[in-house]
Amino acid sequence: MTDNVDVLIIGGAIMGSSLAWWLTRDPGFGGRVVVIERDPSYAYAATSLSHSSIRQQFGQAINVRISQFGAAFLRDIRDWMGPEAPPIPIRSDGYLYLADTPAFADALRQAQALQAGLGAATRLLGPDQAAAEWPYLCFDGIALASHNPVDEGAFDGIALFDLFRRQARAQGAHYVTGEVAGLTRDRDRITAATLTDGTSYAPGIVVNCAGTRGAQVAAMAGLSLPVEPRARFSYVFDAAEPLPGPLPLTIDPAGVHVRPEGGGFLAGYVPRPDLPRDPEDFTIDHAVWEDAVWPILATRIPAFERIRLRRTWVGHYDYNRLDRNAVLGPHPEVANFLFCNGFSGHGLQQSPAIGRGLAEWIVDGGWRTLDLSGLGYERVALNRPLIERAVI
Ligand SMILES: Cc1cc2nc3c(=O)[nH]c(=O)nc-3n(C[C@H](O)[C@H](O)[C@H](O)COP(=O)(O)OP(=O)(O)OC[C@H]3O[C@@H](n4cnc5c(N)ncnc54)[C@H](O)[C@@H]3O)c2cc1C
Repeated sequence: MTDNVDVLIIGGAIMGSSLAWWLTRDPGFGGRVVVIERDPSYAYAATSLSHSSIRQQFGQAINVRISQFGAAFLRDIRDWMGPEAPPIPIRSDGYLYLADTPAFADALRQAQALQAGLGAATRLLGPDQAAAEWPYLCFDGIALASHNPVDEGAFDGIALFDLFRRQARAQGAHYVTGEVAGLTRDRDRITAATLTDGTSYAPGIVVNCAGTRGAQVAAMAGLSLPVEPRARFSYVFDAAEPLPGPLPLTIDPAGVHVRPEGGGFLAGYVPRPDLPRDPEDFTIDHAVWEDAVWPILATRIPAFERIRLRRTWVGHYDYNRLDRNAVLGPHPEVANFLFCNGFSGHGLQQSPAIGRGLAEWIVDGGWRTLDLSGLGYERVALNRPLIERAVI
């Protein structure tokens, strides 16, 4: 038997749940929303393994605007989600980008001009100014630093995900545990989605919110998507001595970033070489901590000479190898197949704006409050990347 649904969302983590939330509260939408999720523990979803931070320091205007809405949404969360919503503050220590070459410093200058033009509080500091502000960091070899203390830092992304999911359900979205294994395409339309247990749906619209498996789902419709899982290593540690002041989310040009987490710190590392991973492979090379990550940390922050590693994990970015940016909206030739993929490490903060944008597209047939057309699939088809350089 085939079940008719207006919108079938594949993947129920933060993007699928944000979209379900925005759709089911839109007075212009009276349809039926079904969310299919293969692993309702979400244990290996990027949403659960994220570092959960938000920033305005992007190199593309559209990403700045998306995060500005994300920050405003968190600030006004009770206006949007009602009194049951807990406050989800942003711990605004800011991100501190460090440039070690003239070319990188120029890129920071250009990005700062763009961000400031859009109202962000990003400021540039020479190494002496930065050392005066954070004397417990070492700025040897640094040409320029960029920092924004407003609406930048960690927030509770799991609380946000929980709210989207719970309220989407309460508003009528139907969550089904199952794995979409096949899509039937009749020329320019998807006519059926079939789960591994044989259940079949006839969808009005299908939305691909499958995270690191986004390319697999696109392939079921005969479509290609340049998105692949890339491993990112995470380390939680305590320092023997507390730092004498706040630590921004500091991005070392050697490929490590670190921010406060609870009473300790959380560091992230891009393993070298940075190759696509099997989506089931969450193994970590433990030698990397001693050989690469800790030396970089201890050089930049001498107090980190004496630390105790508490926890490590591996998460996967849904990495867009074309340009490290999201791919959103309909496929030009398959109008009822919508992409919501390729967030490349900045999806959690983008979830409020992306869910709103896609819901508006579904209800109105176009982008409404924020023009997201620059992130459409057309650029993939034409091989015209919209490169985001500020990816960590
Ligand atoms: C280590 C790390 C640090 C990060 N730090 C940040 C950060 O600081 N700030 C930020 O904004 N972002 C960050 N991100 C990125 C952010 O977490 C992701 O962009 C975001 O969570 C993506 O959400 P999603 O719902 O698209 O995908 P996911 O969370 O990956 O969820 C996809 C879901 O789809 C389901 N699914 C897949 N295939 C199928 C199928 N065939 N049938 C049914 N279900 C299916 C999966 O089970 C999964 O639950 C980080 C990511 C990682 C890994």
